Amino acid sequence: MIIRNGWLSLPFCDEPVKSDVWIEEGRIAAIGQVPAVDDEILDADGCFILPGAVDAHVHFNEPGYTEREDFAHGSRAAVAGGVTTVIDMPCTSVPPVTTRANLQTKLAVIGGQSVCDFALFGGVSAQSFDPAFPDELIEMAPIVAGFKGYALSGMETFGRLDAFRLRELLSLSRSLNRPVLLHAEDADFVAAATPVFMAAGDSPRHYYLSRPETAEMLAVAAAVRLAGETGGNLHIVHIATGDALDLLAGTTVTGETCPHYLAFTTADFEARGAALKVAPTIKPAGNDTALWRALADGRLHFVTSDHAPCPEAGKRTGSIWSDYSGIAGTQTLLPYLFSEGYCRHRISWRRLAEITATAPARRYGLDYVKGTISPGKDADLVFIDPRASWHPGPEDMYSKGRNNPFLNRTWQGRIRRTMIRGRTVYTDTEGVTAAPGYGRFLKPRLEPCQESAR
Ligand SMILES: [Zn+2]
Repeated sequence: MIIRNGWLSLPFCDEPVKSDVWIEEGRIAAIGQVPAVDDEILDADGCFILPGAVDAHVHFNEPGYTEREDFAHGSRAAVAGGVTTVIDMPCTSVPPVTTRANLQTKLAVIGGQSVCDFALFGGVSAQSFDPAFPDELIEMAPIVAGFKGYALSGMETFGRLDAFRLRELLSLSRSLNRPVLLHAEDADFVAAATPVFMAAGDSPRHYYLSRPETAEMLAVAAAVRLAGETGGNLHIVHIATGDALDLLAGTTVTGETCPHYLAFTTADFEARGAALKVAPTIKPAGNDTALWRALADGRLHFVTSDHAPCPEAGKRTGSIWSDYSGIAGTQTLLPYLFSEGYCRHRISWRRLAEITATAPARRYGLDYVKGTISPGKDADLVFIDPRASWHPGPEDMYSKGRNNPFLNRTWQGRIRRTMIRGRTVYTDTEGVTAAPGYGRFLKPRLEPCQESAR
Protein backbone atom coordinates (compact mmCIF):
# COMPACT_ATOMS: atom_id res chain seq x y z
CA MET A 1 0.00 0.00 0.00
CA ILE A 2 1.11 3.56 -0.73
CA ILE A 3 -0.21 6.50 1.25
CA ARG A 4 -0.14 9.72 -0.72
CA ASN A 5 -0.94 13.34 0.12
CA GLY A 6 -0.09 13.15 3.79
CA TRP A 7 2.09 15.48 5.88
CA LEU A 8 4.31 13.25 7.98
CA SER A 9 5.78 13.57 11.43
CA LEU A 10 9.29 12.23 10.90
CA PRO A 11 12.02 11.79 13.55
CA PHE A 12 14.05 14.96 14.16
CA CYS A 13 11.93 17.02 11.73
CA ASP A 14 10.57 20.29 13.06
CA GLU A 15 7.78 20.66 10.52
CA PRO A 16 5.36 18.29 8.74
CA VAL A 17 6.97 16.76 5.65
CA LYS A 18 4.85 16.06 2.57
CA SER A 19 5.86 12.58 1.51
CA ASP A 20 4.53 9.18 0.51
CA VAL A 21 4.64 6.15 2.78
CA TRP A 22 5.08 2.70 1.32
CA ILE A 23 3.79 -0.14 3.48
CA GLU A 24 4.61 -3.78 2.94
CA GLU A 25 3.46 -6.63 5.16
CA GLY A 26 2.43 -4.27 7.92
CA ARG A 27 5.73 -2.43 8.11
CA ILE A 28 6.94 0.84 6.70
CA ALA A 29 9.02 -0.15 3.68
CA ALA A 30 10.00 3.31 2.44
CA ILE A 31 9.31 7.02 2.85
CA GLY A 32 9.72 9.50 0.01
CA GLN A 33 8.38 9.98 -3.47
CA VAL A 34 7.32 6.46 -4.31
CA PRO A 35 7.14 5.97 -8.11
CA ALA A 36 3.92 4.71 -9.64
CA VAL A 37 3.71 1.01 -8.92
CA ASP A 38 0.98 -1.53 -9.05
CA ASP A 39 -0.13 -1.22 -5.45
CA GLU A 40 -3.15 -0.03 -3.47
CA ILE A 41 -3.18 3.77 -3.08
CA LEU A 42 -4.61 5.49 -0.02
CA ASP A 43 -5.19 9.23 -0.33
CA ALA A 44 -4.50 10.99 2.98
CA ASP A 45 -6.20 14.13 1.65
CA GLY A 46 -3.83 16.60 3.24
CA CYS A 47 -4.03 15.11 6.75
CA PHE A 48 -1.16 15.21 9.18
CA ILE A 49 0.16 11.71 9.80
CA LEU A 50 1.66 11.00 13.22
CA PRO A 51 3.15 7.81 14.65
CA GLY A 52 0.46 5.89 16.52
CA ALA A 53 0.38 7.07 20.12
CA VAL A 54 1.77 4.79 22.83
CA ASP A 55 -0.35 5.23 25.96
CA ALA A 56 2.02 3.79 28.54
CA HIS A 57 -0.34 3.98 31.51
CA VAL A 58 -3.80 2.46 31.30
CA HIS A 59 -5.99 0.50 33.69
CA PHE A 60 -8.11 -1.82 31.56
CA ASN A 61 -8.97 -3.83 34.69
CA GLU A 62 -9.23 -7.27 33.09
CA PRO A 63 -9.58 -9.82 34.56
CA GLY A 64 -11.16 -8.77 37.83
CA TYR A 65 -12.72 -5.32 37.68
CA THR A 66 -14.41 -5.46 34.30
CA GLU A 67 -17.45 -3.58 35.57
CA ARG A 68 -15.16 -0.55 35.19
CA GLU A 69 -13.37 -1.41 31.95
CA ASP A 70 -12.15 -4.32 29.88
CA PHE A 71 -9.74 -4.77 27.00
CA ALA A 72 -12.47 -4.91 24.34
CA HIS A 73 -13.82 -1.47 25.33
CA GLY A 74 -10.56 0.12 26.42
CA SER A 75 -8.67 -0.84 23.28
CA ARG A 76 -11.49 0.44 21.05
CA ALA A 77 -11.35 3.74 22.91
CA ALA A 78 -7.60 3.74 22.35
CA VAL A 79 -7.67 3.33 18.58
CA ALA A 80 -10.51 5.85 18.22
CA GLY A 81 -8.14 8.29 19.92
CA GLY A 82 -5.11 7.47 17.78
CA VAL A 83 -3.49 5.22 20.39
CA THR A 84 -2.10 2.12 18.70
CA THR A 85 -0.24 0.61 21.68
CA VAL A 86 -1.21 0.58 25.34
CA ILE A 87 0.73 -0.64 28.34
CA ASP A 88 -1.58 -1.94 31.04
CA MET A 89 -0.99 -1.61 34.76
CA PRO A 90 -0.56 -4.71 36.95
CA CYS A 91 -2.47 -3.65 40.06
CA THR A 92 -6.01 -3.25 38.74
CA SER A 93 -6.63 -6.81 37.64
CA VAL A 94 -7.20 -10.01 39.61
CA PRO A 95 -4.89 -11.65 40.30
CA PRO A 96 -2.44 -8.73 40.22
CA VAL A 97 0.49 -9.28 37.84
CA THR A 98 3.07 -10.00 40.51
CA THR A 99 4.17 -13.42 39.24
CA ARG A 100 4.81 -14.95 35.85
CA ALA A 101 1.91 -17.36 36.40
CA ASN A 102 -0.43 -14.44 37.09
CA LEU A 103 0.83 -12.71 33.97
CA GLN A 104 0.05 -15.81 31.90
CA THR A 105 -3.43 -15.92 33.45
CA LYS A 106 -4.01 -12.33 32.39
CA LEU A 107 -2.67 -12.91 28.89
CA ALA A 108 -4.94 -15.90 28.43
CA VAL A 109 -7.98 -13.77 29.29
CA ILE A 110 -7.15 -10.62 27.35
CA GLY A 111 -5.32 -12.20 24.40
CA GLY A 112 -8.42 -12.43 22.23
CA GLN A 113 -9.92 -9.11 23.29
CA SER A 114 -7.62 -6.26 22.32
CA VAL A 115 -8.00 -4.24 19.14
CA CYS A 116 -4.72 -2.37 19.70
CA ASP A 117 -1.26 -3.76 20.37
CA PHE A 118 -0.36 -3.98 24.03
CA ALA A 119 2.35 -4.63 26.55
CA LEU A 120 2.02 -5.29 30.27
CA PHE A 121 3.71 -4.01 33.39
CA GLY A 122 4.62 -6.34 36.20
CA GLY A 123 3.75 -5.26 39.72
CA VAL A 124 5.69 -5.11 42.96
CA SER A 125 3.70 -4.76 46.15
CA ALA A 126 4.45 -5.05 49.85
CA GLN A 127 2.74 -8.44 49.79
CA SER A 128 4.58 -9.78 46.76
CA PHE A 129 8.13 -8.54 47.21
CA ASP A 130 10.70 -10.12 49.46
CA PRO A 131 14.05 -8.59 48.49
CA ALA A 132 15.80 -11.83 49.46
CA PHE A 133 13.77 -13.81 46.89
CA PRO A 134 13.45 -11.84 43.66
CA ASP A 135 12.90 -14.99 41.56
CA GLU A 136 9.48 -13.97 40.29
CA LEU A 137 10.77 -10.60 39.13
CA ILE A 138 13.64 -12.30 37.31
CA GLU A 139 11.16 -14.60 35.58
CA MET A 140 8.89 -11.76 34.55
CA ALA A 141 11.58 -9.33 33.44
CA PRO A 142 11.95 -10.53 29.81
CA ILE A 143 8.22 -10.18 29.11
CA VAL A 144 7.10 -7.04 30.99
CA ALA A 145 7.68 -3.43 30.01
CA GLY A 146 8.66 -2.46 33.56
CA PHE A 147 7.75 -2.94 37.22
CA LYS A 148 5.16 -0.73 38.92
CA GLY A 149 5.19 0.03 42.62
CA TYR A 150 3.46 2.51 44.91
CA ALA A 151 4.88 4.82 47.53
CA LEU A 152 1.25 5.30 48.58
CA SER A 153 -1.46 2.79 47.85
CA GLY A 154 -5.20 2.88 48.35
CA MET A 155 -5.47 -0.80 47.39
CA GLU A 156 -5.53 -3.42 50.12
CA THR A 157 -4.47 -6.10 47.63
CA PHE A 158 -1.48 -4.12 46.43
CA GLY A 159 0.36 -2.55 49.35
CA ARG A 160 2.85 0.27 49.13
CA LEU A 161 6.61 -0.21 49.02
CA ASP A 162 8.48 1.16 52.02
CA ALA A 163 11.74 3.00 51.34
CA PHE A 164 13.85 -0.08 52.07
CA ARG A 165 11.95 -2.29 49.63
CA LEU A 166 12.03 0.48 47.04
CA ARG A 167 15.78 0.75 47.41
CA GLU A 168 16.22 -3.00 47.00
CA LEU A 169 13.93 -3.02 43.98
CA LEU A 170 15.84 -0.15 42.35
CA SER A 171 19.06 -2.01 43.01
CA LEU A 172 17.60 -5.07 41.27
CA SER A 173 16.32 -3.02 38.34
CA ARG A 174 19.83 -2.91 36.91
CA SER A 175 20.14 -6.67 36.53
CA LEU A 176 16.45 -7.01 35.63
CA ASN A 177 17.12 -4.47 32.90
CA ARG A 178 13.64 -3.02 33.33
CA PRO A 179 12.54 0.35 34.72
CA VAL A 180 10.77 0.71 38.03
CA LEU A 181 7.67 2.91 37.81
CA LEU A 182 6.62 4.68 40.96
CA HIS A 183 3.39 6.30 42.10
CA ALA A 184 5.02 9.04 44.16
CA GLU A 185 3.04 10.43 47.08
CA ASP A 186 4.31 10.26 50.64
CA ALA A 187 2.34 7.69 52.62
CA ASP A 188 3.08 9.10 56.08
CA PHE A 189 2.02 12.60 55.10
CA VAL A 190 -1.22 11.46 53.51
CA ALA A 191 -2.05 8.99 56.28
CA ALA A 192 -1.72 11.70 58.92
CA ALA A 193 -3.36 14.49 56.91
CA THR A 194 -6.38 12.52 55.69
CA PRO A 195 -8.29 12.15 59.00
CA VAL A 196 -7.57 15.78 59.84
CA PHE A 197 -9.09 17.10 56.62
CA MET A 198 -11.87 14.51 56.61
CA ALA A 199 -12.93 15.89 59.99
CA ALA A 200 -12.70 19.43 58.65
CA GLY A 201 -14.97 18.96 55.67
CA ASP A 202 -16.13 17.13 52.59
CA SER A 203 -15.11 19.12 49.53
CA PRO A 204 -12.56 18.91 46.74
CA ARG A 205 -10.57 21.52 48.64
CA HIS A 206 -10.30 19.26 51.69
CA TYR A 207 -9.32 16.29 49.57
CA TYR A 208 -6.63 18.36 47.85
CA LEU A 209 -5.25 19.51 51.22
CA SER A 210 -4.83 15.90 52.33
CA ARG A 211 -2.36 15.28 49.49
CA PRO A 212 -0.88 18.59 48.31
CA GLU A 213 2.33 19.29 46.37
CA THR A 214 4.45 18.54 49.42
CA ALA A 215 3.20 14.95 49.56
CA GLU A 216 4.35 14.41 46.00
CA MET A 217 7.65 16.26 46.46
CA LEU A 218 8.61 14.16 49.49
CA ALA A 219 8.07 10.89 47.67
CA VAL A 220 9.81 12.00 44.47
CA ALA A 221 12.80 13.31 46.43
CA ALA A 222 13.15 10.05 48.36
CA ALA A 223 12.85 7.92 45.24
CA VAL A 224 15.35 10.03 43.26
CA ARG A 225 17.76 9.73 46.16
CA LEU A 226 17.37 5.93 46.22
CA ALA A 227 17.79 5.70 42.46
CA GLY A 228 21.01 7.69 42.69
CA GLU A 229 22.31 5.59 45.54
CA THR A 230 21.67 2.30 43.71
CA GLY A 231 22.15 3.31 40.08
CA GLY A 232 18.54 2.17 39.70
CA ASN A 233 16.33 2.66 36.67
CA LEU A 234 13.44 4.86 37.83
CA HIS A 235 10.42 6.44 36.19
CA ILE A 236 7.92 8.62 38.06
CA VAL A 237 4.36 8.22 36.81
CA HIS A 238 1.70 10.96 36.55
CA ILE A 239 3.65 13.95 37.87
CA ALA A 240 1.26 16.72 38.91
CA THR A 241 3.59 19.13 40.71
CA GLY A 242 5.76 21.48 38.64
CA ASP A 243 8.52 21.69 41.24
CA ALA A 244 9.02 17.91 41.10
CA LEU A 245 10.82 18.41 37.79
CA ASP A 246 13.66 20.17 39.59
CA LEU A 247 14.26 16.95 41.51
CA LEU A 248 14.68 15.02 38.25
CA ALA A 249 17.15 17.51 36.76
CA GLY A 250 20.64 16.11 36.27
CA THR A 251 19.55 12.53 37.01
CA THR A 252 18.61 9.58 34.79
CA VAL A 253 15.12 9.51 36.33
CA THR A 254 12.33 10.06 33.81
CA GLY A 255 8.79 11.30 34.28
CA GLU A 256 5.37 11.46 32.71
CA THR A 257 2.33 13.65 33.27
CA CYS A 258 -1.31 13.34 32.16
CA PRO A 259 -3.68 15.66 30.27
CA HIS A 260 -5.75 16.32 33.41
CA TYR A 261 -2.77 17.94 35.13
CA LEU A 262 -2.17 20.10 32.07
CA ALA A 263 -5.80 21.11 31.56
CA PHE A 264 -7.21 21.64 35.05
CA THR A 265 -6.40 23.38 38.34
CA THR A 266 -7.78 23.13 41.86
CA ALA A 267 -10.26 25.90 40.93
CA ASP A 268 -11.72 23.51 38.32
CA PHE A 269 -11.70 20.66 40.84
CA GLU A 270 -13.67 22.80 43.31
CA ALA A 271 -16.16 23.74 40.59
CA ARG A 272 -16.62 20.27 39.09
CA GLY A 273 -16.08 18.00 42.07
CA ALA A 274 -15.61 14.25 41.74
CA ALA A 275 -15.41 14.41 37.93
CA LEU A 276 -11.88 15.69 38.49
CA LYS A 277 -10.94 13.45 41.40
CA VAL A 278 -7.67 11.72 40.55
CA ALA A 279 -4.57 10.61 42.43
CA PRO A 280 -2.30 12.51 42.69
CA THR A 281 -4.79 15.34 43.04
CA ILE A 282 -5.18 18.14 40.52
CA LYS A 283 -2.86 20.94 41.66
CA PRO A 284 -3.21 24.76 41.87
CA ALA A 285 -2.62 27.01 38.86
CA GLY A 286 1.04 27.41 38.01
CA ASN A 287 1.75 23.68 38.10
CA ASP A 288 -0.06 23.24 34.79
CA THR A 289 2.08 25.85 33.05
CA ALA A 290 5.27 24.44 34.59
CA LEU A 291 4.38 20.97 33.27
CA TRP A 292 3.71 22.33 29.78
CA ARG A 293 7.07 24.13 29.76
CA ALA A 294 8.89 20.99 30.84
CA LEU A 295 7.18 18.94 28.14
CA ALA A 296 8.21 21.56 25.58
CA ASP A 297 11.88 21.63 26.54
CA GLY A 298 12.34 17.93 27.31
CA ARG A 299 12.67 17.99 31.10
CA LEU A 300 9.45 15.97 31.20
CA HIS A 301 9.53 12.96 28.94
CA PHE A 302 6.05 11.90 27.88
CA VAL A 303 2.31 12.03 28.52
CA THR A 304 0.00 9.14 29.40
CA SER A 305 -3.73 9.04 30.07
CA ASP A 306 -3.77 7.04 33.33
CA HIS A 307 -7.04 5.77 31.84
CA ALA A 308 -9.13 4.64 34.83
CA PRO A 309 -12.85 4.43 34.14
CA CYS A 310 -15.59 3.66 36.65
CA PRO A 311 -19.36 3.12 36.57
CA GLU A 312 -21.29 6.39 36.93
CA ALA A 313 -22.28 5.63 40.50
CA GLY A 314 -18.60 5.57 41.43
CA LYS A 315 -18.40 9.34 41.05
CA ARG A 316 -21.64 9.92 43.00
CA THR A 317 -21.19 8.25 46.35
CA GLY A 318 -22.17 11.37 48.28
CA SER A 319 -18.68 12.13 49.56
CA ILE A 320 -15.54 13.32 47.82
CA TRP A 321 -13.60 11.01 50.13
CA SER A 322 -15.27 7.85 48.84
CA ASP A 323 -15.87 8.89 45.21
CA TYR A 324 -13.87 6.94 42.66
CA SER A 325 -10.49 8.35 41.76
CA GLY A 326 -9.76 8.27 38.05
CA ILE A 327 -10.53 9.52 34.55
CA ALA A 328 -11.32 7.57 31.37
CA GLY A 329 -8.86 9.39 29.16
CA THR A 330 -7.16 7.23 26.54
CA GLN A 331 -9.49 8.32 23.72
CA THR A 332 -8.91 12.04 24.34
CA LEU A 333 -5.15 11.91 25.10
CA LEU A 334 -3.84 12.64 21.61
CA PRO A 335 -6.73 14.90 20.47
CA TYR A 336 -6.19 17.04 23.58
CA LEU A 337 -2.42 17.32 23.09
CA PHE A 338 -2.80 18.06 19.39
CA SER A 339 -5.35 20.81 19.99
CA GLU A 340 -4.16 22.40 23.22
CA GLY A 341 -0.48 21.59 22.89
CA TYR A 342 0.52 21.79 19.25
CA CYS A 343 -2.20 24.05 17.81
CA ARG A 344 -1.83 26.49 20.71
CA HIS A 345 1.95 26.56 20.31
CA ARG A 346 2.70 25.14 23.75
CA ILE A 347 4.68 22.27 22.23
CA SER A 348 6.40 21.95 18.88
CA TRP A 349 5.48 19.61 16.06
CA ARG A 350 8.51 17.51 16.89
CA ARG A 351 7.72 17.29 20.61
CA LEU A 352 4.12 16.28 19.88
CA ALA A 353 5.30 12.96 18.39
CA GLU A 354 8.05 12.51 20.96
CA ILE A 355 5.81 12.89 24.03
CA THR A 356 2.97 10.77 22.62
CA ALA A 357 4.87 7.98 20.87
CA THR A 358 8.65 8.08 20.50
CA ALA A 359 9.69 8.57 24.12
CA PRO A 360 7.35 6.04 25.77
CA ALA A 361 8.18 3.41 23.11
CA ARG A 362 11.89 3.91 23.73
CA ARG A 363 11.59 4.03 27.50
CA TYR A 364 9.85 0.66 27.63
CA GLY A 365 11.89 -1.12 24.96
CA LEU A 366 9.16 -1.16 22.31
CA ASP A 367 11.05 1.07 19.86
CA TYR A 368 12.17 -1.87 17.76
CA VAL A 369 8.67 -1.74 16.21
CA LYS A 370 6.84 1.31 17.63
CA GLY A 371 7.18 5.04 18.23
CA THR A 372 8.33 6.62 14.96
CA ILE A 373 7.43 6.74 11.29
CA SER A 374 10.56 5.18 9.85
CA PRO A 375 11.47 2.26 7.59
CA GLY A 376 11.31 -1.10 9.34
CA LYS A 377 8.84 0.02 12.03
CA ASP A 378 5.26 -1.15 12.24
CA ALA A 379 2.97 0.98 10.08
CA ASP A 380 1.08 2.40 13.07
CA LEU A 381 -0.23 5.72 11.81
CA VAL A 382 -2.77 8.34 12.89
CA PHE A 383 -4.32 10.64 10.31
CA ILE A 384 -5.35 13.98 11.83
CA ASP A 385 -7.22 16.56 9.79
CA PRO A 386 -5.94 19.90 11.13
CA ARG A 387 -8.66 21.87 9.31
CA ALA A 388 -11.47 20.09 11.15
CA SER A 389 -12.53 20.27 14.79
CA TRP A 390 -14.00 17.71 17.18
CA HIS A 391 -16.64 18.21 19.85
CA PRO A 392 -16.82 14.84 21.61
CA GLY A 393 -19.82 13.86 23.67
CA PRO A 394 -20.47 10.75 25.77
CA GLU A 395 -21.97 9.02 22.70
CA ASP A 396 -18.58 9.25 20.96
CA MET A 397 -16.76 7.37 23.71
CA TYR A 398 -15.91 3.68 23.43
CA SER A 399 -14.85 3.19 27.04
CA LYS A 400 -17.17 1.54 29.53
CA GLY A 401 -16.70 4.57 31.77
CA ARG A 402 -18.19 7.99 31.07
CA ASN A 403 -15.97 9.77 33.60
CA ASN A 404 -14.07 11.87 31.08
CA PRO A 405 -13.82 15.60 31.85
CA PHE A 406 -12.60 16.40 28.33
CA LEU A 407 -16.05 15.91 26.78
CA ASN A 408 -18.34 18.64 25.48
CA ARG A 409 -15.52 20.94 24.48
CA THR A 410 -14.32 21.75 20.99
CA TRP A 411 -10.85 20.54 20.02
CA GLN A 412 -8.96 21.64 16.95
CA GLY A 413 -8.12 18.72 14.66
CA ARG A 414 -9.99 15.53 14.05
CA ILE A 415 -8.72 11.97 13.83
CA ARG A 416 -9.81 10.61 10.45
CA ARG A 417 -8.07 7.25 10.52
CA THR A 418 -5.93 5.01 12.73
CA MET A 419 -3.80 2.19 11.31
CA ILE A 420 -2.02 -0.61 13.13
CA ARG A 421 0.53 -2.68 11.22
CA GLY A 422 -0.76 -1.28 7.95
CA ARG A 423 -4.39 -2.11 8.57
CA THR A 424 -7.07 0.52 9.20
CA VAL A 425 -8.57 -0.13 12.62
CA TYR A 426 -10.65 3.06 12.93
CA THR A 427 -12.09 5.78 10.73
CA ASP A 428 -14.21 8.70 11.84
CA THR A 429 -17.01 7.65 9.49
CA GLU A 430 -17.03 3.88 10.10
CA GLY A 431 -15.86 3.74 13.71
CA VAL A 432 -13.70 0.85 14.92
CA THR A 433 -13.18 -1.57 12.06
CA ALA A 434 -10.87 -4.20 13.59
CA ALA A 435 -12.12 -7.20 15.51
CA PRO A 436 -11.16 -8.02 19.10
CA GLY A 437 -8.00 -10.07 19.04
CA TYR A 438 -6.34 -8.07 16.26
CA GLY A 439 -4.03 -6.49 18.86
CA ARG A 440 -0.77 -8.27 19.57
CA PHE A 441 1.14 -8.70 22.79
CA LEU A 442 4.53 -6.97 22.72
CA LYS A 443 7.61 -8.00 24.63
CA PRO A 444 10.32 -5.42 25.22
CA ARG A 445 13.69 -5.61 23.55
CA LEU A 446 16.30 -6.80 25.98
CA GLU A 447 19.25 -4.45 25.54
CA PRO A 448 19.72 -1.78 28.20
CA CYS A 449 17.27 1.07 27.78
CA GLN A 450 17.94 3.42 30.69
CA GLU A 451 20.24 5.94 29.02
CA SER A 452 18.36 5.96 25.75
CA ALA A 453 15.29 7.31 27.51
CA ARG A 454 16.60 10.85 27.15
ZN1 LIG B 1 -2.58 4.69 37.18
